[in-house]
Amino acid sequence: MKKDVLIVGGGITGLSLAWELSCLGIQSILIEKAPFIGGHVSQFACKATQTCQRCGACLLEDYLSKLPRTNNIQMLVGSRIDSFSQAGREFNALIMQRRSGVINEKCDDCGLCEKVCPAEGALFKSPLDSSLHISNEKCLKSKGISCEACAQICPQGAIELEEKNRELEIQSSAIALCTGFTPFDASQKPRLGYQRVPGVLTSLELDSLLRAENFQLPQSSDGLKSIAFIQCVGSRDPKSGANYCSQICCGVSIRLARLIKSRHTETRITIFYMDIQTFEREFDKTLDQTKNDMMFVRSMPSEIRSGEDGRPEIIYHGNDDTKQIVPFDLVILSIGISPRDPDLPGSFPALWKNRDGFIGSEGNDVAAGHPGIFVAGAAKGPKSITGCISQSILAASQIKKYLDRIKRGE
Ligand SMILES: Cc1cc2nc3c(=O)[nH]c(=O)nc-3n(C[C@H](O)[C@H](O)[C@H](O)COP(=O)(O)OP(=O)(O)OC[C@H]3O[C@@H](n4cnc5c(N)ncnc54)[C@H](O)[C@@H]3O)c2cc1C
Repeated sequence: MKKDVLIVGGGITGLSLAWELSCLGIQSILIEKAPFIGGHVSQFACKATQTCQRCGACLLEDYLSKLPRTNNIQMLVGSRIDSFSQAGREFNALIMQRRSGVINEKCDDCGLCEKVCPAEGALFKSPLDSSLHISNEKCLKSKGISCEACAQICPQGAIELEEKNRELEIQSSAIALCTGFTPFDASQKPRLGYQRVPGVLTSLELDSLLRAENFQLPQSSDGLKSIAFIQCVGSRDPKSGANYCSQICCGVSIRLARLIKSRHTETRITIFYMDIQTFEREFDKTLDQTKNDMMFVRSMPSEIRSGEDGRPEIIYHGNDDTKQIVPFDLVILSIGISPRDPDLPGSFPALWKNRDGFIGSEGNDVAAGHPGIFVAGAAKGPKSITGCISQSILAASQIKKYLDRIKRGE
């Protein structure tokens, strides 16, 4: 198969880049290794209260509805580059596509397979359309262990565990890496109690909970009286290898806090921060409105532990440098954006890495360090959804210039 551009990664960056290229008349094929497209944004809730809070989550649905209307874009899910070569200016990528073991047309969502599956997380639902999938990383059968419990119990015969992989060879003149980021692993900060103290969640987990239609926040029998947000977990923290600001976390926490406050008006919200960063346009106004509704404490908690009543307790130094111990019903760790291993074959050309470990150079330039290979979105560094889309627009114009130069034989 021959295409102008191979896009690796089907998050908001890959999708918006495919769209921008298509508008310029450039044909692309997008490969996504997960069984569904959308990347991290597919887990986010709409944060609208009485009015839109401009979180950008709905922009994903905009792309998902308009992309199928163009002939210039082809998408393959469950796919990654298996091997790679280059002849002159032509790239050759051998793509391995893994087919999902669940035939969603047959599945009636009875849930029996999920009940019998012994491997946690091996069966999971797409956050976009709730279709069921099997995780190749977690399924025991994929690991060579003889287990067919889900296929045996399925009354519809909707699960086929024999792998149906296919290989495709794709030739392209350019490659765009839109491989995204990995959320900071909060368990790297054991003093903050993640996975150790009940009632401590990450902002990503809270977002996914709020996305569910009948969401129920974890709360005690007294209800949800108090929530704390801890900023800069895995950002601006050289000890965690993240000596940079993740740019999105302050906006994320404040929007989540406002959304919760609009639904649970009695809940007290406290935000622990080092510096509130407002990279977004007009975010200062939102922040000013918020200051009457919640408490801002300029302090980085030293520990989160389980209190005697089972609720998480935050230990921090107050403004007067006295030690404070305050219990909350829920503590949200506002996790940052970490670089992700782009999962490319060894034969792939060496790429630039910036000082924080993301692909590409320090600036806004979308070159990845090898002629014809470009990078955009969170793969290049922390960015909001709209930041990713803006960079896709820039990348599309740079790719067009590159393809035009090739056509002219330059
Ligand atoms: C807790 C949290 C909350 C956030 N909330 C907001 C918010 O409310 N508003 C906002 O503007 N921003 C928010 N962000 C930032 C937002 O998530 C990013 O801007 C956005 O997801 C980046 O999109 P992306 O497509 O670059 O990367 P991703 O969303 O990470 O998508 C990358 C895709 O590439 C795929 N991929 C990776 N490697 C390969 C490979 N080798 N082959 C094939 N596919 C591959 C991945 O499977 C993935 O689907 C939040 C971030 C965090 C951590």
